[in-house]
Amino acid sequence: MRYVSTRGAAPVLDFGEAMLTGLARDGGLYVPETVPALGRDEIAALSGLSYEETAFRVMRPFTGDAFTDAEFRAAIEAAYRGFGHPARAPLVQLAPSHFLLELFHGPTLAFKDFAMQLIGQLFQIALKRQGRRITIVGATSGDTGSAAIEAFRGLDNVDVFILFPEGRVSDVQRRQMTTPDEANVHALALDGDFDDAQARLKDMFNHFEFRDAVGLAGVNSINWARVLAQVVYYFTAAVSLGAPHRPVGFTVPTGNFGDIFAGHVARRMGLPVDRLVIATNQNDILHRCLTTGRYETGGVKPSISPSMDIQVSSNFERALFDAYGRDGGAVAQLMEELKVAGGFGVSQGALEALKAAYASGRVSEDETLATIARTRRTTGELLCPHSAVGVAVAERRRHPSMPMVTLATAHPAKFPDAVERATGLRPPLPDRMADLFSRPERVTSVPNDLAALEALIKERRRR
Ligand SMILES: *Cc1c(COP(=O)(O)O)cnc(C)c1O
Repeated sequence: MRYVSTRGAAPVLDFGEAMLTGLARDGGLYVPETVPALGRDEIAALSGLSYEETAFRVMRPFTGDAFTDAEFRAAIEAAYRGFGHPARAPLVQLAPSHFLLELFHGPTLAFKDFAMQLIGQLFQIALKRQGRRITIVGATSGDTGSAAIEAFRGLDNVDVFILFPEGRVSDVQRRQMTTPDEANVHALALDGDFDDAQARLKDMFNHFEFRDAVGLAGVNSINWARVLAQVVYYFTAAVSLGAPHRPVGFTVPTGNFGDIFAGHVARRMGLPVDRLVIATNQNDILHRCLTTGRYETGGVKPSISPSMDIQVSSNFERALFDAYGRDGGAVAQLMEELKVAGGFGVSQGALEALKAAYASGRVSEDETLATIARTRRTTGELLCPHSAVGVAVAERRRHPSMPMVTLATAHPAKFPDAVERATGLRPPLPDRMADLFSRPERVTSVPNDLAALEALIKERRRR
């Protein structure tokens, strides 16, 4: 299995190298050269299997000879062992033909644990084999950072630095990043917003001298291995609801487009996904793009669903690559225009392709709060504000003959202020992390400045 860059000008890599590299050297994102398909019988045979066995069967065709079957199975087992639910990704019914896929039973209470826990295991195997060490630098709007720290804390051959926008993550998110006390973990509070953090990270990857000097590796949602890990729960959910015999729709609270793109990969593998619906908060660049054909950045408007507060949606580049017939040159041109002019127009043909693949909806802050309150009243279920954005969009599009699954991307206790505002109830943390607020914090404030960041990372990483 070979991986190519969405900008067509970086080396072709195997799965292991694409995973360790993250961002391609031409600035693009790695995608598989061809998407392997599962037959109808193979999909039907997933019914009733454990999450782990399904994960092995869905992901194995993508990994080539990067891992032995035994190594890959052991990594999957270890990745999900710490989850607080035996189904890993349980489905809960909200209404006739509307289901909630609970993706928040991992160690940091958000769906990002599904991918991050797995790549923590896979990185360890690959690095040990090669006798290599790396420096992971991540930018986070909150959940990626805590998931990465939880996955890599204490590993011998990895140092991990997480940049988060100071004052723009929830207390639970911040504490999940600042309380681990391992020497290889560094939480960095950036004087800027999430897009600044993401931009500085991209700058580091494009600064090859620094990149090679520290063995820079990325685990942000652009890492192909993360997208792949997220493909699995589309299969478990759809098969539970009757796939391959019955199509299923998914509504996905979306920011950087990694989670929903995994749904697109599942569909290309042969899963009957009828609709993939992008649900955005007031930071609605994707919804505007699908509606108007222009991908146009504005400022970030802080919201009550901060993990979706983005102005540029990095994995959307993978969708553009497909929509432009996998023309890396065309994608590179669009990304250059985005950098220089802050936006671009999508061609007529590509827009039609995007609209055939994705629907979209935008949800206001008030509607998000009202959805949390209404869902609590009608079902007893407490939603986090991100999941509520998804539920609100799904309710507009629900169709009695086709099951719709909304992805619940975080636990309500991760965003207790918004939940309390909507319902008067303050959701408690699960028992296994009840002492989060009594652990000491460790954090370094950093300026929004590339040279200063690089100097700090060089100094603090272990050799
Ligand atoms: C990261 C995140 C999202 C957005 O996911 P993308 O893959 O970036 O689109 C939504 N909700 C929560 C809780 C998240 O942590």
